[in-house]
Amino acid sequence: MKPRVGIFSLSSCEGCQLQILNMEEELLDLVQAIDLVSFREAMDPISGEYDIALVEGAVTRESEIPVLQEIRRKADVLVAMGACAAAAGVIGLRNLRSPEENLRRVYGEHPDVADDVTVARPLDEVVEVDYYIRSCPIDRDEFLHLIKSLLMGKEPYDPNYPVCVECRIDENVCLYDLNDGEFCQGPVTRAGCGALCPGFGSACMGCRGLVDDANVESMIDIMVEAGIDEREARRRLELFHAGPEGKKNDNGED
Ligand code: SF4
Ligand code: SF4
Repeated sequence: MKPRVGIFSLSSCEGCQLQILNMEEELLDLVQAIDLVSFREAMDPISGEYDIALVEGAVTRESEIPVLQEIRRKADVLVAMGACAAAAGVIGLRNLRSPEENLRRVYGEHPDVADDVTVARPLDEVVEVDYYIRSCPIDRDEFLHLIKSLLMGKEPYDPNYPVCVECRIDENVCLYDLNDGEFCQGPVTRAGCGALCPGFGSACMGCRGLVDDANVESMIDIMVEAGIDEREARRRLELFHAGPEGKKNDNGED
């Protein structure tokens, strides 16, 4: 029996689903190994029953909560797919203000057009998540690794050390402070990307989320010592994981 797989989307740009569609060379093998029963960006649903659910996007509306809970109820395995699902991602930037303030800014005198909007939450703030595919967008090799691992009954590998480890192994030139104030976030960001951005000469922006026990405060101290405003330093570090606290800045500042 091939496992039935459903790919679902909450609040997102759907870029992670697009990454799967872009796997032209692997897609035919993939659909022979699994029963793809739902994949919004590619096909009409074939069945409402599935064993593995891959969910893209963050929870940003009350109406998404029962949808996600139903997916969790049906699936044996639930995977948070991409930075939005794993850590609220760029959608979490809305949490820098309250939902009410965001609605007022976007819809002016008609905020009721989206009256069930909440703070943005990663999936595991709402339901139990079994596995994560991190980064924005997801990496196809990581996606394939996860599917292959599940097919073989193995635990997918999910590194919990900083990007710097992979970067040093690749012998990249360190871009920690590019002297134009663009700080590489590799020291606090979870590895698994093979230090892709530093390998191409760009500072890591932290799309894979924080490594466990990341020393964020020390990172901010170093950035402040280098002349970066503390609020700006915190914002850079929160770009992909602003968290669900909300109401961080309702004072009208941008
Ligand atoms: S993780 Fe990035 S690519 Fe994926 S849905 Fe979110 S914003 Fe889009
Ligand atoms: S370039 Fe970034 S990821 Fe690479 S070693 Fe330096 S700080 Fe770490």
